[in-house]
Amino acid sequence: MKKRILLKGIPAAPGLIVGKAFCLGSEDMQVQKRAISESQVPKEVTRFKEALIKTRAEILDIQKKISREMGVRHAQIFNAHLLVLEDRTLIEGVITRLKKERFCIEYIFLEVLKKYIKTFSHIDDPYLRERLSDIEDVGKRILRNLRGIRRDILTNLKEKLIIVAYDLSPSDTASMHKEKVIGFITDIGGKTSHTAIMAKALEIPAVVGLEEATAKIETGDNIIVDGTRGEVLVNPDRATLDKYKLQSEKLVRQELVLLKLRDLPAETPDGREVQLAANIELPEELASVVAHGARGIGLYRTEYFYMNRMDLPTEEEHFEAYKKVSQQVEPYSVVIRTLDLGGDKFLSQLDIPQEMNPYLGWRAIRFCLARPEIFKVQLRAILRASAYGKLKLMYPMISGIEELRQANRMLEQVKEELRRRKIPFDEDIEVGAMIEIPSAALTCDILAKEADFFSIGTNDLIQYSIAVDRVNEKIAYLYEPAHPAVLRLIKNVIDSGHKENVWVGMCGEMASEPAFALLLLGLGLDEFSVSPAAVPGIKRVIRSVTLKQAKDMAHKALTLTTGKEVEAFSKEKLKELVP
Ligand code: PEP
Ligand code: MG
Repeated sequence: MKKRILLKGIPAAPGLIVGKAFCLGSEDMQVQKRAISESQVPKEVTRFKEALIKTRAEILDIQKKISREMGVRHAQIFNAHLLVLEDRTLIEGVITRLKKERFCIEYIFLEVLKKYIKTFSHIDDPYLRERLSDIEDVGKRILRNLRGIRRDILTNLKEKLIIVAYDLSPSDTASMHKEKVIGFITDIGGKTSHTAIMAKALEIPAVVGLEEATAKIETGDNIIVDGTRGEVLVNPDRATLDKYKLQSEKLVRQELVLLKLRDLPAETPDGREVQLAANIELPEELASVVAHGARGIGLYRTEYFYMNRMDLPTEEEHFEAYKKVSQQVEPYSVVIRTLDLGGDKFLSQLDIPQEMNPYLGWRAIRFCLARPEIFKVQLRAILRASAYGKLKLMYPMISGIEELRQANRMLEQVKEELRRRKIPFDEDIEVGAMIEIPSAALTCDILAKEADFFSIGTNDLIQYSIAVDRVNEKIAYLYEPAHPAVLRLIKNVIDSGHKENVWVGMCGEMASEPAFALLLLGLGLDEFSVSPAAVPGIKRVIRSVTLKQAKDMAHKALTLTTGKEVEAFSKEKLKELVP
């Protein structure tokens, strides 16, 4: 009887899946040490060069495939791979050692590669360390080509499987047969790792950062992947397996029922209609947004344009993406958030020094205001794209009115330039502020006079108001969306906005929780922007309760004294009002 294990990691893409594990092993990194004679050296050099050419052709092929299936942005990840193939230090290092030591090229190459990888893994810069996986990926490919083996395992899977790997390289993910790979789990990686981003875009349940998945799981093991909770159960007993299978089928059925609401408005029975939009990170998620019946995008995070690359995105890249998204979402609108780097969103091509307190540091709008040459490129692209669909723009991490004014001044300069150049844009584009810092939440009456809308970012607002790091699992118990302090801040934002006719939305995760959605509806929130998969559930809540019921419930919640009480009360009310 195989041992049952529960592994906990980071939820990367939601969904529950039960299936057989398929471990991608480290077989690639083993070679024989075979001595050669001096006369064999030229032949080995030729084999090496041929392997490099073949690898290059393979990568270009993958790049084309990815570009077709997932868009140019994803394909660009492979530029870094092509660069590894042209790295003189690596290539010359191999040839020099081959001539000196006279072992077969596979062995020499692997030795040089290992040394190279070791050097990189000691570098402090997280971006450069991430390049390590590019080097490893390309290195394995070269080795396979030297040995005449093709990594076609992933393309030729015969049955539906869950992939277990230390990490999945972009080329691994790209060559997967989507119908056969029903889930993936990895030892390393965070929410913004390639694997996580791709899994979400492909809508395949995934858990990353499990640390020991490859050590604890063997090919053929039965596993349950809970991409929503970030858990993996290995070799569950029959009863657990049956329970999860039922749960998984129930989820599918529930989803089908909820999808019936797709074309109905998010309106209470007594006629209060709210905007129910979705959050996206990649244009590839649009299909899911439409399928789940969201009306527009309430938060388009744009950090991904800047990630996994050495250069900065061009104005055209921004423009094309925004234009495409806005055209696809028509007649609804898209709220584009300007660059929110910093905290856990780290980009090293921008040469930002390491800070003691990154969440409180030189980030988001603070960085953008200090680097107008970078900020204005994005502003110009958003404005230009606004001529093609309904776009709105919002600034992240606004701490007070001065920042909002400064950002708006820059926006005005860009508008002026476009007018001069006779480039069309939407003169009435709405410009809003994210409210995710307590100082902004408390001065919303002032901000409301100069903003068109507010979007409450509870992910950060909670961490700043309770002083609880949003990614530290040790203090996760303190991270309470319904803490009375947070509720009072939210109420203040909504009331202050409404006094000045400013609509107020929420794009933080709190809005995706049905019980809290009920409370937020009662507090008067105008727009809910949630993850695409959460849209039908929130719509059901809104369509099930009257505004009066929600208001009464919110009124009572505001009198409670702890976050736990509010949460329990909200859940109880949800059960009662939304059966
Ligand atoms: C937030 O802070 O609530 C938010 C939506 O933005 P992010 O999660 O990208 O910081
Ligand atoms: Mg935020």
